Amino acid sequence: MKILITIISFAFMTVYMSSCNHPPSANGETTSYQPATDTELTEFISKIKAVDNHTHANTIDPNDKGFDALPLDALFPFELPARVRPESQKWLAASKAVYGFTATGLNEKTIKDLSDTIGKVMKWQGEKFPEWALDQAGIEVMLANRIAMGPGLSSPRFRWVSYVDALLFPLSTKAEAAVTPDREKLFPLEDQLLKKYLSDLNITKLPATLDEYLKQVVTGTLEAQKTGGCVALKFEAAYLRSLDFEKVSLQSAREVYSRNVNGGEPSRERYKLLQDFIFRFIAAEAGRLGMAVHIHSFPGAGNYFVAQDCDPVLLEPVFNDPELHNTKFVLIHGGGTFSQHTSAMLWKPNVYADISLLTLIWTPDQLAAVLKDWISQFPEKVIFGTDASSFGPGLGWEMSAWLGAATARQALIIALSEMIRSNEISLSSAKEIATMVLRTNAGNLYKLGLN
Ligand SMILES: [Zn+2]
Repeated sequence: MKILITIISFAFMTVYMSSCNHPPSANGETTSYQPATDTELTEFISKIKAVDNHTHANTIDPNDKGFDALPLDALFPFELPARVRPESQKWLAASKAVYGFTATGLNEKTIKDLSDTIGKVMKWQGEKFPEWALDQAGIEVMLANRIAMGPGLSSPRFRWVSYVDALLFPLSTKAEAAVTPDREKLFPLEDQLLKKYLSDLNITKLPATLDEYLKQVVTGTLEAQKTGGCVALKFEAAYLRSLDFEKVSLQSAREVYSRNVNGGEPSRERYKLLQDFIFRFIAAEAGRLGMAVHIHSFPGAGNYFVAQDCDPVLLEPVFNDPELHNTKFVLIHGGGTFSQHTSAMLWKPNVYADISLLTLIWTPDQLAAVLKDWISQFPEKVIFGTDASSFGPGLGWEMSAWLGAATARQALIIALSEMIRSNEISLSSAKEIATMVLRTNAGNLYKLGLN
């Protein structure tokens, strides 16, 4: 933590020195803003025990496979953003902070040394390694978006977020998969996951009617996930189709289901009716069962991702549906470059946004600008997240958890101190907002029972 504070302080002071010249306040007088305020805010934010809204934390099993329903390895090779490429200096900072690693550059030799060090720490920590990793990043509770939890990832420090896209596609996905080369690789993974869900329920064949499918397979799976400790359901649908889930009548959906449940190819147009109906059914069930709905909203990843399909504005009819007002929706990755559309959606009482992934690939300044827009309007709807996941040998999820947490804290310091400096908020409000974003907003949303 000491190294973390030093890095944050340094990053902040650089920003402070370049931009703080005691600007006049709204009434024309010079503000009494003091550098001491920065130091106090920086120290306060560095000590907040965070709740991480979105990650793919690994179990301690070296062959862990359950960390994503659609692992991005399926889509490689594609170019990662510069900040998370293997040669990025950011990984060096993370390795110093997490492991006390002292190399001055990352190359084949030093990555090997780092992997050895990590291996030793993992052996020493055993099943406690994931919790140890959280402590390094100042994270108290981490939501793990996984097919299933596993050794080392146990409550209360780790909470489960399951995947539900597979339930949208009970019919043949052949035509859907043909839309892009990426979807060709992803749809078979959803087909497999649906088979797993059926086998978990001891169902060998899809039910003959949609009503039976909804009751036995969809509700059956969601209730089992709830019993298994799930706090939210995740849709990665934007990798597979557009987020425009229309309101469709039960009768229309029934017709599509029963015509092709025993084989054949539904047209894409007709299949969409069924998918849209099931999406809204799942969202309503999530509300009934007290689980939030997480939706990937970010223009990536992959070489053929359809950016316009992930625009959060496409979800407005869902958010505005009075029948779904008991459901809490979280825009995962905050819409990315559609962040202004996310800002518009934050007006909805049941919509939240997290900053996961943005904390890895955007600089603190870029993130601060977006955060300022959101937190100046709806500070109770903005949630910290990292999207911690493994980026390859030596670059495990614990490293990206640290990088995401450090970046989020830096961005909050920049955004909030700018707001203090312009007399928009007081230091005590800034501390309160930082605590909400990093900890209590998620604590309240998922009823985590934090102190
Ligand atoms: Zn993710």
